[in-house]
Amino acid sequence: MKLYCFIVILFIGLLSCKKEDKKKLNNISEKLNTSISDSNSHIDSVISHNKSKKHSNLLVKKDSLINLNHSDSKNAHRHDSATKERNDHNKIFGLKSDKGIAKDSSNKYYIYLSFDDGPQLPGTYNCKNILEKYNVRATFFMIGVHNTGLVREKLVDSLNDNPLFIVCNHSDTHANNKYSLFYKNAKNALQDFLTAESKLKLKHKLARLPGRNTWAVNHQIKGESSAFDVAKKLDSIGYSIFGWDLEWRFVHSNIPVESASEMIKKVKNTLKSGRTHYPNSIVILMHDRMFDKPQYADSLQKFISALKNDKQYIFETLDKYPILSAEKIK
Ligand SMILES: [Zn+2]
Repeated sequence: MKLYCFIVILFIGLLSCKKEDKKKLNNISEKLNTSISDSNSHIDSVISHNKSKKHSNLLVKKDSLINLNHSDSKNAHRHDSATKERNDHNKIFGLKSDKGIAKDSSNKYYIYLSFDDGPQLPGTYNCKNILEKYNVRATFFMIGVHNTGLVREKLVDSLNDNPLFIVCNHSDTHANNKYSLFYKNAKNALQDFLTAESKLKLKHKLARLPGRNTWAVNHQIKGESSAFDVAKKLDSIGYSIFGWDLEWRFVHSNIPVESASEMIKKVKNTLKSGRTHYPNSIVILMHDRMFDKPQYADSLQKFISALKNDKQYIFETLDKYPILSAEKIK
């Protein structure tokens, strides 16, 4: 009987012992779980911290790229800070034309309006008046033989002296509109540009080739190859040559094809597509004579005022074009 009682007491003791152990085990397990979950949430917070740190670093990089790319829109493009702007632009050389970088780095777009074949009256006057009214910068590619008579000469002088504008070389004879022949003789073509340079009293060594969308910027020659020999010659004497990304077309010599709103759409689409010579920048070709008639001058006014009112667009002259090297600018 004594033995039986001892066995029963021992069995109960063992049972209670197991319960205690189980409790202890449960406590340990709970602590472990808490600690694991703590460390998980710590890992999560470290990851998220790193992520946000990485993100803010990226934002800093992005901001500095924006500053590098086109600097501050309010101040950097003022005429009196032209040297600083030029230096900022020259820093871009290292980036070259990596579309990926610039596409993500700026929500500003740069519009380079360019008017060809002037001086032509009254088109050039109309363009000048509208651009002045909206305080918008533009580039005029002019022809030497068109600069005859006091009225035209005075007009060209006034454009040369106005900080909103630059007057550039579009040759003396415009190849007499016989382009193939003109580009076959590079030496004569070069002389034609030099004649225009002196007739138009040009301050900038920037040119557009007549009838050819050929580029020579920062010694990189691109575009229509039939004009490469002439482009090389001009490049060798310090010229930069600009083609265009988008043309406001005309028919019957001076009637615009697109309306103002159609052109605005084209500008937006072309910039968004990234199909421009340099990212976030668009060179638009127009001709002074397209705006001879009041209704078409009105189209130009609508086009310019709409883009000017949209703060993501900034108008510049082509001497401020990215990747244009400092030594190219007189
Ligand atoms: Zn032309």
